[in-house]
Amino acid sequence: MTGHEADSAYESLIQFLYSAPVALIQLQQNGEIEMLNPMASQLLMPLAPDGDLSNLFHVLQPFAPDLQPLCAGFGGAHGVVCEGKRIVLQRDALRPDGGRGQSAPAVLSLGLLKVDGSRLMAVLLDATHEVLREQRTLATRLASAARQDVLTRLPNRAGALDLLRGMVRRARTPAGDHGAVLSINLDRFKQINATFGNDVGDQIMVLVAERLRATVRSSSRVAALAAAAEVAARTGGDEFVVLLDGLPERATAESIANRLLDRLSRPYSVAEHELTCTFSIGIVLLDQDQDQDQDQDQDQDQDQDREGNEDPDGLLRDAAIAMGVAKAQGGGRCALFQRRMREEAVLRGGIEADLRNAVERGELFTVYQPVVGLLAGGAIDRAAGVEALVRWRHPVRGVVGPVEFIGIAEDCGLIGAIGEQVLAMACADFVRWQKQLGEAAPRLLAVNLSRAQLSQEGLCDRVAAMLAASGMAPQSLQLEITESLAAQGENVRDQLLALKALGIKLALDDFGTGYSSLSSLHLLPVDTVKIDRSFITLAATSRHHEVLIEATVKVARSLGMNTVAEGIETPQQAAVVSAQGCDKGQGYLYSRPVSSAAIEAWLGGAGQGAGPA
Ligand code: C2E
Ligand code: MG
Ligand code: MG
Repeated sequence: MTGHEADSAYESLIQFLYSAPVALIQLQQNGEIEMLNPMASQLLMPLAPDGDLSNLFHVLQPFAPDLQPLCAGFGGAHGVVCEGKRIVLQRDALRPDGGRGQSAPAVLSLGLLKVDGSRLMAVLLDATHEVLREQRTLATRLASAARQDVLTRLPNRAGALDLLRGMVRRARTPAGDHGAVLSINLDRFKQINATFGNDVGDQIMVLVAERLRATVRSSSRVAALAAAAEVAARTGGDEFVVLLDGLPERATAESIANRLLDRLSRPYSVAEHELTCTFSIGIVLLDQDQDQDQDQDQDQDQDQDREGNEDPDGLLRDAAIAMGVAKAQGGGRCALFQRRMREEAVLRGGIEADLRNAVERGELFTVYQPVVGLLAGGAIDRAAGVEALVRWRHPVRGVVGPVEFIGIAEDCGLIGAIGEQVLAMACADFVRWQKQLGEAAPRLLAVNLSRAQLSQEGLCDRVAAMLAASGMAPQSLQLEITESLAAQGENVRDQLLALKALGIKLALDDFGTGYSSLSSLHLLPVDTVKIDRSFITLAATSRHHEVLIEATVKVARSLGMNTVAEGIETPQQAAVVSAQGCDKGQGYLYSRPVSSAAIEAWLGGAGQGAGPA
């Protein structure tokens, strides 16, 4: 290349740089500007109110006071001093509400290259759009994090509400395009946390989330519907929601819910425990009021309901109300939302307040049901025992059964006080019968113990104190526990063993209803197995159930436990359970639960045999 050619190449480079849409500035070590292209003066001019563009450091001083020290501190003879250094000119313009009407740059990006011992090249870019874009991405990420549950990575309540809003707004095809919301709750999650610790509780939540994800994914839907969707979300501690959209029929919601119940209730292995949990599911259909409760509708009601149904918050609430109903019915089941459930939910809230008063005012009382010995030839032993069952004399509602309030008492922490009242009343009655009735007095008193009581500290001491106060022999008391969840936790098992050490007998109530299995019976420190009414009801008509009863009796006997058949209503049922070797029986056939005065009469009743109830 000749000198002339080199000059002209340099000339075109300068020309090119001069007109480039990038601000270029050549400056001295002290910031003195030697050369700048039009783009540079366009960017810098608004920053120099007096129009003085002679020194870059001076111009940028108010926005980047660290620039001069940065250059002075740069040690090398040449090299990159900084690259993409952000210089904020107008902070306000970057706020989300900043409304960038004018196009003046709000942020510059600066690159500085030390060319030699005395000279620097600066490159300046308007980075406003880039920064705004970054902010938007960040905001979206934050928003989606705010819509996700950290533990399970499922959408959280806010996320579920967003999705539900979309579902509610979407236009539906006239036939075969239904939506539903399922509210899913683990029965007695508090108990799991109290028994095994919060870590185990958390791990169960994660496993539940995985099963929910897997199950909703594999459900059957109308594939052709683009809008069809199934999403699981975690809306609270142990509360999950599944949104079903594009269902071919309304009934599909229920079949999916039942499939979920089945999958969710399989055992969970967590930290060396095999835990079985049951779940309650509430279902609300998006277009429910089109055919529901039509007979009792007034126009006004219809309007209110429709309004309620289009509101995502209201839908979640209704689904949760239905879930509460499923739970109150014993859990492990689904309930379809019905409008009357709203009033009942309010009532339930009222029950809690009333229940506190009931405990203080002594509105609770016990009734007794005989537990008879099943003797050869269909004869019965009337004095074998009685079971105490609590009742509540509600000032307005009359006598209320335990199914309606024991669950609430467990939830609101009243169960301990109720349990103690029942035990004290029953022991007092029992001791009195022994004095008054002699031979005819029952030999065993069965009292139910709630799971929640089992995880309470000091239970054993209180029971011992009450026995002592009433003068009741511990061997005559049988405490009944309903679930093997009781035996799954170490501390609960210890509690049971401590009760046994007092001399008290233990019974496993409602055996066969899901929690316990025959193969795990040996793990439980119980003396008696009470076979659930659901088996006895079918005993006389279903060979399958008869075989199950037979197997239970055999396994129990091999473990040195005796058996009680619950809920015997007919002589046929009595004959079957007797033939299968059940030791005792309880049920309406012999007597309904009755007052303590009535049971005294029954106990003194004439003869042996299946006397009238
Ligand atoms: P459970 O301990 O299994 O009591 C037996 C239940 O079955 C009683 O219901 C009894 O009335 C009912 N039953 C007995 N024989 C028959 C029959 O032949 N047919 C039918 N259909 N039912 C029969 P109840 O009194 O409503 O009690 C329900 C449950 O409430 C009890 O089941 C028990 O788990 C709980 N419970 C009752 N009293 C107490 C209490 O003082 N404390 C606690 N924690 N729970 C209690
Ligand atoms: Mg019982
Ligand atoms: Mg029972």
